[in-house]
Amino acid sequence: MRRFWIPSDRIHEAYPVLDGEEAYHLSRVLRARSGQSVLLMDGRGTVAEARIQSVLRDRVELVVMNRFCAAEGQPFRIVVAQALLKDAYMEDLIRRWVEIGVDEGIPFVSERSVPILEGDRSRKRKHRWETLAREAMKQSGNPFLPTLRDLIDLYPMLDALQHCPIKLLFWENESRRLSRECFTFADHVTGRIDIGVVFGPEGGFSESEVAVFQQYGFQTVSLGPRILRAVTAGIVGLALVRFLAEEALSPAIPQPAYPNPAKNT
Ligand code: SAM
Repeated sequence: MRRFWIPSDRIHEAYPVLDGEEAYHLSRVLRARSGQSVLLMDGRGTVAEARIQSVLRDRVELVVMNRFCAAEGQPFRIVVAQALLKDAYMEDLIRRWVEIGVDEGIPFVSERSVPILEGDRSRKRKHRWETLAREAMKQSGNPFLPTLRDLIDLYPMLDALQHCPIKLLFWENESRRLSRECFTFADHVTGRIDIGVVFGPEGGFSESEVAVFQQYGFQTVSLGPRILRAVTAGIVGLALVRFLAEEALSPAIPQPAYPNPAKNT
C-alpha cells in the first residue's frame, strides 16, 4: 500500500484531505482512483489506513478506516551532528538518517566543513532536506521523522549535545574502536537517554577541534584502520550506533517496536 505524508493536525480527522505535492503525486502521477486504499503518515508516529473518496487535481478526499500510533520503542534517542558536507552528500545522509532511525539531526560548521556562501541559502536547503526526509519516511515506512535543526557553529552544537549521557566523536586517528562498552552511562540517569553522535567533514577535524570535543566529554571512537569518506562514515557509524545501542540498552524490547506498515500490501 502506498504511503503519503499528511500534517499531524489532519491525520486524526475522520475525513482527512491531502493537498499540495502529496495530492498532485497521488492524482497526477499515480492516477489514483476512488476506492483505492493508501497509508497516511504524519512523521510523529501515527499511521492511518485510508480509502480515497474523491480525486481532484490538487486535492484528494479520504476516509480513515484504521489508525495506528507507533510506540517510540527504544529507551534512547539518537542525535546526530554532521559537519556540513556538499549538498549532494548531505542529502544522501538525510535520507539514511530516516532509513536507519535518527531522532534529531544537527548540521554544523567546523574549521574544514564546506564554506558557507554569503547570504547562505539555508532556509531553502532546510526545506529541501525536510522534503527528502519525508520521501525517505514513505519509502522506509519509518513512522518517525527526525527533527532537523538549523545550521549552527561548533560551540552551539557542543552545547546542544552537552546533556547527552553518551557522546561519541567519530575520529579516524583514534585506535579505540566503537563497541558495546561505549554505551554505558551513570546509574543516576533515568528515562529515555540521548546519544550524541558526531561526524566530521571531508577534510576531517583539526587536532584542536578534537581536543575541544574531549574537553566536552566526548569519547573518540574508530570505525577501523581505513579512512572512510564522510558519507560512508556517517552511514556505517550511525547503523552501528543504532545496532550497539539496541543491544546494550534495550535487550528486553522485542523488535519492531511499532506496527510496520512498510510491507507493500
Ligand atoms: N582526515 C581524513 C583524511 O585524512 O582523509 C578525512 C576525514 S574523513 C574523510 C571524514 C570523517 O569521517 C571524519 O571526520 C570522521 O568523522 C569519519 N571517519 C572516517 N574514517 C573513520 C574511521 N576509520 N574511524 C572513525 N571515523 C572515521
